[in-house]
Amino acid sequence: MYFNSNTVAFLDGEFVQASEATCGVYAQSLHYGYAVFEGIRAYNTPQGSQIFKAREHYERLHYSCKAVGLPLEYSVEELTQISYQLLEKNGLTDAYIRPLVYAATPNMSLKHATSGNLLMAVWEWGKYLGDQSLRLTISPYERPNPKAVPIEAKVAGHYVNSIIASSEAKGRGYDEALLLDMNGFVAEGPGANFFFEKDGELYTAPAGSILRGITRNTIIDLAREAGITVYEKFFTPTELQGAVGAFMTGTAAEVIGVLSVDELVFEKPFAETLGAQLAKRYHDLVTGVLTPALSSK
Ligand code: PMP
Repeated sequence: MYFNSNTVAFLDGEFVQASEATCGVYAQSLHYGYAVFEGIRAYNTPQGSQIFKAREHYERLHYSCKAVGLPLEYSVEELTQISYQLLEKNGLTDAYIRPLVYAATPNMSLKHATSGNLLMAVWEWGKYLGDQSLRLTISPYERPNPKAVPIEAKVAGHYVNSIIASSEAKGRGYDEALLLDMNGFVAEGPGANFFFEKDGELYTAPAGSILRGITRNTIIDLAREAGITVYEKFFTPTELQGAVGAFMTGTAAEVIGVLSVDELVFEKPFAETLGAQLAKRYHDLVTGVLTPALSSK
């Protein structure tokens, strides 16, 4: 599904057959989850295939590398250019792009890597959480404590928390988990940010215990352009009572409605909420239908 015998990947300066790209079992990254990555999408637009917010994603990749001390030798411009070349080599225009910076050197020490390796892969990927409104459950797992890890960096090891939280929620029959922070405030999903609507206004968790998603920022811009007030503030699950609707945002998930959080069912179907209006504007923006304004910066 992610690759076949014709798929091309980029590995350490070369375009290679994805099926032949390998990584040694003594690699420091494999043993300690010591790698960083991005999730990016390219869309078909009237101007051809366009990577949405490539600069923001590759700046975040650089930030993540710095946060964990992994060297990355490619500039934002080079990474963007490699992404477009990789899409072209794979004949893809509407696709998900996954750059991964890791430490391939056999190394069992707990020291920063002295060199970083770069893998980039592309594949076709539908909306990660589907397009039906989600039934969420508050996870018994919290988001990692931001004093323990650089939470705003997209570090591979952080996703062990995401895997166990998501799997636990699905094991109890829900579609996805909603994680609290160490203080009991709603933080985010395992791979997406969370918003809710009350009295014509939107609320989402502030920076602190979340990955400040590029989709989240885009939705905030689109909402404010449309005159909708967005609060970035801490809130508990109890404060969701009386909410009209909710949704999640992420590059892979895009914008997806939330039907319920445990027993609490939101008042309106997603289609009748601000989230649905913003989902439409987001789709128009990424596919080049909506003229970029503030939201494209
Ligand atoms: N939170 C987490 C934990 C994520 O993994 C993601 C996906 N990158 C997001 C939020 C959404 O981020 P973005 O909109 O930048 O994809």
